[in-house]
Amino acid sequence: EAMRAVFAAHSIDAVIHFAGFKAVGESVRKPVKYYRNNLDTTLTLLEVMAEFGCRRLVFSSSATVYGGESPSPLTEDMPVGQCTNPYGRTKYFIEELLRDAAAAESELSVVLLRYFNPIGAHESGRIGERPNGVPNNLMPYVTQVAAGIREKLSVFGGDYPTPDGTCIRDYVHVMDLAEGHAAALAYAQEHTGAEVFNLGTGRGTSVLELINAFQQATGVTVPYVMAGRRAGDAAVCYAGTEKAAQVLHGRGGRLRICAAMPGAGSSAGENEYQPKNTGYAGRVPYFLAGLPLGEEVRSGGGHRDGHGLSGRRWAKARRTNRNVKERWNLDILDWQTSDLPPLHKFHKKTLVRIRRILRVLVRCAEKSFDVPSVYMIRRNIL
Ligand code: UDP
Repeated sequence: EAMRAVFAAHSIDAVIHFAGFKAVGESVRKPVKYYRNNLDTTLTLLEVMAEFGCRRLVFSSSATVYGGESPSPLTEDMPVGQCTNPYGRTKYFIEELLRDAAAAESELSVVLLRYFNPIGAHESGRIGERPNGVPNNLMPYVTQVAAGIREKLSVFGGDYPTPDGTCIRDYVHVMDLAEGHAAALAYAQEHTGAEVFNLGTGRGTSVLELINAFQQATGVTVPYVMAGRRAGDAAVCYAGTEKAAQVLHGRGGRLRICAAMPGAGSSAGENEYQPKNTGYAGRVPYFLAGLPLGEEVRSGGGHRDGHGLSGRRWAKARRTNRNVKERWNLDILDWQTSDLPPLHKFHKKTLVRIRRILRVLVRCAEKSFDVPSVYMIRRNIL
């Protein structure tokens, strides 16, 4: 009913289906919960889409459907389904049911996107990855250690058959992943049936390489210890990107199949990660994700962003945050509503004048900055 209400209230041409439980460990402990949630919701979505004549669907699948058997680079035509955990199997089952649905209904268009390891943040630095509780994934854990929220990182396994003994993954910048979705939607508009694409960079980066690259780029040390292997981890997993590059590139967005890591792996995108030259023109690096930025940090005591940090740790988080911002010229992040005196304290006429001036400023800003950040200013202040 809830989904029907959404479709009834809006005219929806296409759906990008991101929803689902995604913690591997929890899925092993509570498989029924995972199957019930991830499969049921997809079935409901398909039914309601059919009811309202919405015939395009882009689905967030995962590299995990390849299982651990095939050698990297993993290409879309390799066998799938040998998943090592229930979470992965829900992705695999959903892929299968969407293929069946597309085979049965000639008007349906389904694009399955197999994500590799998305990391990073929006250019504004305001939208990043800050999971609730202890992060399961590597990058948010690294950023939280850098910010002083966690003491040290455990590297799961140093005895894999890789050059430095740690696992190799394909870390793709979340903004490239977003471009992939724009391209997939455009593709869905022009085709029917089911099609599958990897979204990755095609480059492998080891855990230690990732930590080093992070330290190099931020100037922040990330203490780590070597720990035992994590159950179910494959040694090497990176994408074959030829199909996405050929079919999706240049479609509906600026999809770039490029490296998300500075100096990691092979000759990864060095130009994009020179400190001091990014600002809003370039891409704010992935590692800002999860760092406490802006007002949360300034608010100091009291709120503390739910992390319950001790005074010492909080001070360290603030320092780290300031250093990273300075390094990347992110001063503009400080400009927030909280910097202004409370508006209700002004006389009404003054208020009207302030708003008028701000509008002019925003118009100027629109010419210089990217749209999302201007939108934030609009929403916060006007
Ligand atoms: N990893 C690690 N320490 C952590 C979290 C992850 O060493 O605290 C390793 C993990 O073993 C894997 C890689 O980092 O080799 C990426 O793990 P993540 O959970 O981010 O993604 P996955 O590839 O499992 O989907």
